[in-house]
Amino acid sequence: MTKIAFIGLGNMGGPMAANLARAGHQVSGYDVVPAALAHARENGVDALGSAAESVAGAEVVITMLPSGAHVLGAYRDGLLAAAQPGTLFIDSSTIDVDDARAARELARDAGHRGLDAPVSGGVGGAEAGTLTFMVGADDPDFAAAEPILAVMGARVVHCGGSGAGQAAKICNNLILGVSMIAVSEAFVLGEKLGLTHQALFDVASAASGQCWALTTNCPVPGPVPSSPANRDYQPGFAGALMAKDLGLALNALEATGTAAQLGPLAASIYRRFADEGGAGLDFSAIINTIRHNSNL
Ligand code: NAD
Repeated sequence: MTKIAFIGLGNMGGPMAANLARAGHQVSGYDVVPAALAHARENGVDALGSAAESVAGAEVVITMLPSGAHVLGAYRDGLLAAAQPGTLFIDSSTIDVDDARAARELARDAGHRGLDAPVSGGVGGAEAGTLTFMVGADDPDFAAAEPILAVMGARVVHCGGSGAGQAAKICNNLILGVSMIAVSEAFVLGEKLGLTHQALFDVASAASGQCWALTTNCPVPGPVPSSPANRDYQPGFAGALMAKDLGLALNALEATGTAAQLGPLAASIYRRFADEGGAGLDFSAIINTIRHNSNL
């Protein structure tokens, strides 16, 4: 049994904290939204009135917050100061690589240990405890975090030192964002050429066009009954989150001088998609924008 403080009890953090409590850990929690606190209490989390109260005495502090600014702000505004020396700080939010490294430095300067452990798998994976964790940490910190992360996930991958978890997350979602646009353009071109969705799926899913965007999250209804296209594009993985993650990829591409062309284009396509009504839809609904722009 480990004493764990969980900060950020939203769509992801709520069920993740609940799984830790269900596994027998002593979980305290904090969120700025009272409804999130109330929901967490129903799921066995000792939800308290302040971040400082919830981290007091904890051995591990997990943050699951919207952005890097939230994480760095929470660390600076009292989380680090309220924790006992040597506490293991795990940030599972999706944030910039530089922010992840800065967070780890802040934790270390305050006498703690810190690592980045972003996730993929969405709310469904958080509820089922089947997330994939991508971890950037020193070996001893990874070893300390792994049994805790394994409660909330099916896979825990040690990607390298500080920031490597965020780097893996951003690179993966760059592939995903670009490939979903490519798959959607191919379906719309197929429609123009008189090809049925099923025929294109049957060929591409067993040929060199095969990818997750096609075979798991297929953007047209029919070929993959569980894909969001079959339920009016309810997420799934929301357009707002894809726009956010590609924005992080864009920052990293620019900061590193990587000569990418499709990444920045995909980032601008998803930014506009999210701003023009797609924020709450699954990101595969980008196919409707392509159709619309193709006069279909
Ligand atoms: P969310 O908005 O549902 O949850 C974030 C929670 O943080 C909210 O409840 C908010 O009130 C709380 N919060 C904000 N500032 C706070 C503070 N200072 N102290 C305490 N609580 C604070 O978002 P989410 O969907 O749970 O996502 C969380 C993170 O996980 C994001 O970085 C997101 O990119 C990442 N992520 C989300 C998904 C997904 O499918 N939702 C998948 C993978 C990764």
